[in-house]
Amino acid sequence: MAYSYEAPVSQSLFDRASVVTPGGVNSPVRAFRAVGGTPRFMVSGTGPYLTDADGREYVDLVCSWGPMILGHSHPEVIAAVQEAVSRGTSFGTPGEGEVALAEEIVARIEPVEQVRLVSSGTEATMSAIRLARGFTGRAKVVKFAGCYHGHVDALLAAAGSGVATFGLPDTPGVTGATAGDTVVLPYNDLDAVRAAFAAHPGEIACVITEASPGNMGVVPPADGFNAGLKELCAANGALYISDEVMTGFRTSKAGWYGVDGVRPDLMTFGKVMGGGFPAAAFGGRVDVMAHLAPAGPVYQAGTLSGNPVATAAGLAQLRLLDDAAYAKIDAVSAELRSLVGDALGKEGVAHTVSAASNMFSVFFTDQPVRDYEDAKKQDVFRFTAFFHSMLEQGVYLPPSAFESWFVSTAHDERAVERVAAALPAAARAASEATA
Ligand code: PLP
Repeated sequence: MAYSYEAPVSQSLFDRASVVTPGGVNSPVRAFRAVGGTPRFMVSGTGPYLTDADGREYVDLVCSWGPMILGHSHPEVIAAVQEAVSRGTSFGTPGEGEVALAEEIVARIEPVEQVRLVSSGTEATMSAIRLARGFTGRAKVVKFAGCYHGHVDALLAAAGSGVATFGLPDTPGVTGATAGDTVVLPYNDLDAVRAAFAAHPGEIACVITEASPGNMGVVPPADGFNAGLKELCAANGALYISDEVMTGFRTSKAGWYGVDGVRPDLMTFGKVMGGGFPAAAFGGRVDVMAHLAPAGPVYQAGTLSGNPVATAAGLAQLRLLDDAAYAKIDAVSAELRSLVGDALGKEGVAHTVSAASNMFSVFFTDQPVRDYEDAKKQDVFRFTAFFHSMLEQGVYLPPSAFESWFVSTAHDERAVERVAAALPAAARAASEATA
């Protein structure tokens, strides 16, 4: 596809980047491979807006893939960071900021009795899995196709097809031995989970699931699915791990746990809790967490874990996220969902706007989407046309049809109006697109 607009400075930066960095990016989806065109190199962000290296401003509906829930450069978060930085950037010792952040998490999320801070969501899920294996003395891990838990070797045996079902690695570099302990099942299918427990008695350490998936597009759990997982885990001596890296502190004050109330044994967090810095966490039952070094034998560590600048940013952000903030985010999300649905409807584009609390995405199909196989049946080429039209008109969407859109407290009427103004042409482009 040829694009009628250009981003020469971004393009030249991308050319430079591609010489020194594989694919020109430090995280693959940023490269726009799924949609084509030049990835935008951003230079600044304020409130709901991003400005790229060519000086163009965008309404940001990615929000750094979730973390920027107060918008960009929130003055109180910036002030907390500046204050922390002025005292030093890393000590390699315990500090009060990490205690305060852990206390805030424990206070908000009742099943989290103890928490360990790490630096990325990947580290959080990797460590939670190790802990579950150490605690249960079992090897196997159940995960669901279409759920992403970071680039943990054991959790990359992931994406659809019969190959995944047999636990074969999805990416070179993950050995068959590692992937062989991973059982991949279709999402929202409790019978498949029952069958897995029956097929591997006494072998499954844990079931890990996104609390409400956002990595195959937004596909919420069917009624009773999470509760069923919890029950099956309890009945079979396995731990139920709820990955709230994306949903945590976003879908409510207590994340998805605050929505469905199903009590996990372990939970993982990231994104929002770092306020735009690398901070993440895992936590849960105190008897399980007691197995973690130095309290117990399961090793886990990190040079920058609990970093004072990251914890100051995270704490400042969490303290601003009160009921009013969530009400605002939910309202903006609802407004945008209805605008997007109306625009696509007017152009006769088959679509489903799928939401989980304030997270949402658009599937270009009118068929129900309950799992990854369903999600893959959408007309991705229509998303591509829609994406580029929105980008050209100054709205930055996730550059993939399989990602959640995110909004913030900073998305005000002006930002919403700019999105609304862009939608008719984008919907038309989606309707006129051909495979
Ligand atoms: N778990 C979920 C549900 C995620 O969405 C992500 C990242 O998008 C991760 C884990 C990995 O987090 P990170 O990218 O911080 O390693």
